[in-house]
Amino acid sequence: MIRKIYKFGGASVKDADAVRNLKSIIEKENRDELILVVSAMGKTTNAIEKALAEFRKNNGHLEISALSEIIEYHEKIMIDLFEGNTSHPIFEVMTNLFLDLYLNLQETGFDYDYQYDNTVSFGEILSTTLISTYLNECGIKNELLDAREYIITDHNFRAANPNWDDCRLRIQKLSDNHDGTMYITQGFIAGTISPKTTTTLGREGSDFTAAIFANCMDAQEVTIWKDVDGVRNADPKRFPNTQKISHLSYLEAIELAFYGASIIHPKTLKPLQNKNIPLKVKSFVDTSLEPTIIDNTEDYIEYVPSFIVKEKQTLMSITARDFSFMNEHNRAIIFNIMDELNLHANMTQVSALVLSICFDENEKKKLQLIETLSQSFKIKYNDGLQLFTIRHYHEGLEKDFVKDKKIYIEQRSRSTYQIVLE
Ligand code: ASP
Ligand code: MG
Repeated sequence: MIRKIYKFGGASVKDADAVRNLKSIIEKENRDELILVVSAMGKTTNAIEKALAEFRKNNGHLEISALSEIIEYHEKIMIDLFEGNTSHPIFEVMTNLFLDLYLNLQETGFDYDYQYDNTVSFGEILSTTLISTYLNECGIKNELLDAREYIITDHNFRAANPNWDDCRLRIQKLSDNHDGTMYITQGFIAGTISPKTTTTLGREGSDFTAAIFANCMDAQEVTIWKDVDGVRNADPKRFPNTQKISHLSYLEAIELAFYGASIIHPKTLKPLQNKNIPLKVKSFVDTSLEPTIIDNTEDYIEYVPSFIVKEKQTLMSITARDFSFMNEHNRAIIFNIMDELNLHANMTQVSALVLSICFDENEKKKLQLIETLSQSFKIKYNDGLQLFTIRHYHEGLEKDFVKDKKIYIEQRSRSTYQIVLE
């Protein structure tokens, strides 16, 4: 029976040594109860995003050399892992995948979001094909699953929503028929049934994939392997002297993820909470370190303040053209449209006449929102802002971060302080 889901992100498979490290981690495990969810290697997703932009700029007319960085990067890892044996069948398999990616990149006549999912998804296909073959070669028997057959979603490309009934049906069947072979599958990528297409769950969505599998097969636990030793109260790349939070409740973790703590994809926690499946965040660099555990604890935990910065924010202020109050009626109109656009408010503030909404930059959706509202509402906005949040706030904690910056909105509740700034 499958009990555990291990998610390995891009950094944990970024080169041949990292893949060997993954192997040494799972070697010690009961693999017959394990499923691995693996991301694209290193920064491959960014690299394909960049290539896609180039292909679209050139109407698809680029040589395959436009992909040489991506190809050489994977080939280097392959040559290292397969000890230079380029006659191994994996080389041909991967070459065919590169060609397939190239063909998909040329098809620039399609809608951007659709083509995005059809191309960027190759990052995960490449990584899992390579890693699965390597592990089998080393005697770690495993079966590669195509996540697009199990994580079934709607057609909301680039942020697809799982169709839970379909996912459950397929994943449970997989679980029931499991013969003890370890499974490997892709994070982030998913599929629709009819017509059959590839979708993705949103950047950094592999955590969410792990949670969907866990929920649908009633797993015992999910472990996310990271290059940090667990959840910290701030991003160590941005703040000095961060602290590890060794135990937190789902609710606290959901709050942190909601405000933009990048340690866990925000959609990951609910499917786990619903089935009471603990989530461990553990270091792949030093496996002797204790993980952070996120579960349904009701113990009182005195959390240290957490500092979270969300970049690339748009702040929009909306006023009715007839100067009517920004009342529930007007707000309902605006939020309904945002809901239809799948545009999520990270922070809102309302005065007599103005509704201010802060959301993640998205040029296309912003223009759609403006267009739909412009008959009745006057709209102003600023892009390129930051949303800074402090959980478990106390007076003065914001000072160092905020100093000298231009403040747009500030908001404070009993436990949380938020500010939008430049
Ligand atoms: N490879 C995807 C990304 O970089 C998904 C993930 O890593 O979770 O966004
Ligand atoms: Mg990642």
